[in-house]
Amino acid sequence: MTARAPITQDVMTIPRKLPDGPTNLVGLTREQLRAALIEIGTPEKQAKMRVNQIWQWIYHWGVRDFALMTNLAKDYRAKLAEHFVVAVPEVVTRDVSADGTRKYLVRIAGGHEVEVVYIPETDRGTLCISSQVGCTLTCSFCHTGTQKLVRNLTAGEIVGQIMLARDDLGEWPEPGTGTGENGPRLLSNIVLMGMGEPLYNFDNVRNAMKIAMDGEGIALSRRRITLSTSGVVPEIARCAEEIGCQLAVSFHATTDEVRDRLVPINKRWNIATLLDALRTYPKVSNSERITFEYVMLKDVNDSDADARRLVKLIEGIPAKINLIPFNEWPGAPYERSDWARIEAFADIVYKAGYASPIRTPRGEDIMAACGQLKSATERARKSRAQIAAEVQQG
Ligand code: SAH
Ligand code: SF4
Repeated sequence: MTARAPITQDVMTIPRKLPDGPTNLVGLTREQLRAALIEIGTPEKQAKMRVNQIWQWIYHWGVRDFALMTNLAKDYRAKLAEHFVVAVPEVVTRDVSADGTRKYLVRIAGGHEVEVVYIPETDRGTLCISSQVGCTLTCSFCHTGTQKLVRNLTAGEIVGQIMLARDDLGEWPEPGTGTGENGPRLLSNIVLMGMGEPLYNFDNVRNAMKIAMDGEGIALSRRRITLSTSGVVPEIARCAEEIGCQLAVSFHATTDEVRDRLVPINKRWNIATLLDALRTYPKVSNSERITFEYVMLKDVNDSDADARRLVKLIEGIPAKINLIPFNEWPGAPYERSDWARIEAFADIVYKAGYASPIRTPRGEDIMAACGQLKSATERARKSRAQIAAEVQQG
């Protein structure tokens, strides 16, 4: 096995400017927005102020129509409408689970579809967003990993998922009624745990999260954003420096032999290499602790010996271990560990001094649970040969 190319295919990010269409302002950084405004003739001297005004309309008030941006001159609004749009992905279907979980199937440019899941809890509301259409990686227990078609989402499509959920939850403040920031938020947390490997779409994910964290807009604290990675080691340090959000890692195994099978990117960056990168993360990002995600697969990674190895491996890393009962999907090659086994495993981890919550599967009746996401129109299974080729690249 060579250690050259990452285990990924070439993925393309489609340009924001579609051939004939106007530029979408959603997803532009403040600097990019400034440049776009200057390009249509906004005087440089006014640019900063116009950026602030438009930014607040889009991200604080949730306004999509330039005509409603009433603190801008009428002819300037008309000019904006001539050149730009404020657009978020279109919701194609919306399912609501018996437990209140909402799953949105959304359509993005090119006709692709991704899934977004909203999970209400008593003290918070978490939105699980996607970063790619499908995933170039091939974790053997993950439904998304069997999906063929892949492209990176643009920053606008990523932050747009947050905006369309706020639309559906009716959570934009009402103009003229104060800031709307008092009281608990329905959408209070973001997890990048939907479809795709966020660290293989780094720039767009970073730009989108910067927009979500910007204090004059959606204003979510970096402590309320968790990025989950399968272990793209070189990008972990960048994530600490350039995003500074919370990190979750799809760990799932305690020996390289098993992790190679479950999370094939392990062949490129093994457990020891991954743990080295994780040790420095909390310091650089100033985050509290790392979440180790561990999917419980019957007779594969769920023994007492595994639990003991796990706590030994992560010794010294401020951590929480999130045990995820395997969510089955049609044709999945694994079974969920028995409940008693999961509890015994959790007990060992807990006694070693780590929080070890067992993640309650949510939205199972609408196939919205972790790792079940896969859009109905893109069910084409990767061929065996393609999976083999992707794994080999590591
Ligand atoms: N690509 C990223 C983020 C998306 S997956 C990553 O791998 O971390 C989000 C989490 O769901 C990961 O921990 C993933 O390993 C887990 N997961 C995937 N398929 C699952 C399944 N069928 N049951 C339970 N968890 C699953
Ligand atoms: Fe991709 Fe994450 Fe699924 Fe692995 S677990 S195939 S990295 S989405």
